[in-house]
Amino acid sequence: MTKIYIDKEVCKGCRLCIHLCPKEVYEMSNQRNKKGYIFPEAKHPEKCILCKNCEINCPDLAIYVEED
Ligand code: SF4
Ligand code: SF4
Repeated sequence: MTKIYIDKEVCKGCRLCIHLCPKEVYEMSNQRNKKGYIFPEAKHPEKCILCKNCEINCPDLAIYVEED
């Protein structure tokens, strides 16, 4: 299974990763980081196809995806 790392303290909650993931891996959490932004969680990492759309397009470089 793919490993997906999200640096929640860097995330600004823009939701781009949620919209760009073709496999609906992400959902927004119900938690806020220290800056007050709601950040996403990788709820379905088993669906990931390692396209890296999320990692490449996150404007804050908050996501890192790798093969396990
Ligand atoms: S694209 Fe990056 S900054 Fe935007 S919600 Fe996702 S992890 Fe956070
Ligand atoms: S690598 Fe692709 S499939 Fe996997 S979580 Fe990111 S956007 Fe979704």
